Amino acid sequence: MRRLFSYHAASAGLLMLMATFSTAAAQEFAGREKLRSHSAEFRREVIKVTNGVWVAVGFSDANSVLIEGEGGSIVVDTTSDVEDARAVKAEFAKLSTAPVRAIIYTHLHPDHTGGGGVFAGNDGPEILAHRLLVDRVPDVGRNGRDGDDQFGSTLPDALFINAGTGLEFGRHPAPSAYVAPTRTFSGDRLDLTIAGVRLQLFHTPGETRENVADFQWAAELTDYVLAIDDGNVEARRLKAAALGELGERQISAIARNYYLSAAQYLLRDLPAR
Ligand SMILES: [Zn+2]
Repeated sequence: MRRLFSYHAASAGLLMLMATFSTAAAQEFAGREKLRSHSAEFRREVIKVTNGVWVAVGFSDANSVLIEGEGGSIVVDTTSDVEDARAVKAEFAKLSTAPVRAIIYTHLHPDHTGGGGVFAGNDGPEILAHRLLVDRVPDVGRNGRDGDDQFGSTLPDALFINAGTGLEFGRHPAPSAYVAPTRTFSGDRLDLTIAGVRLQLFHTPGETRENVADFQWAAELTDYVLAIDDGNVEARRLKAAALGELGERQISAIARNYYLSAAQYLLRDLPAR
């Protein structure tokens, strides 16, 4: 009896093990299919965000943004290397021939800074970043994550599908055109106007300690979308997220309340995600 019980227990265990295996295999397969279809996200495309604001997607591991100002433009993030940057610069040149007045590095990672020199060309732009980008030992790690593993950089071609954040990352490296910032800011925030465009850069330590973002700009940008399409759920969520970030950074309780209530108001009646 005992033996039989053991036998049953063992076969039940085996069955469970087989079930686990087949589920894992199915997930693995579904994951692969998902990753394959994800490659479509990286079609080379310059998308108009709003009047005078464009984002180049699919040319490199990270996106690059063009903001057209008066008599000049601003580039936010510069792609990984000379080749990717040249490809994006050629696309941006179709939209604006005005000189680049500023380049903003959101953080030091090579996919954001590697094409700086290409975009700068002979325009002599200000190159802006948070002080931490140059002050300390560069944080090229990814908060403990290993880039090669994360992006499949060392996988054999037969197994490689895409890098998740782009078609590939570090598989066919081209020379970097990194140029150091010419202007940095310390502390939480820098307000400035470049080519008539008001910018507010916020220190947003996240993936790296020197990360910066412009939440005010994000909030204003989504305003344009909402002006055209009041019911745009994505724009309402984005604006609420930007206002939430701004609210968290206010020292005054009244200002903080203002931002956070506005964020809540935007999210009213929206289905939870
Ligand atoms: Zn990064």
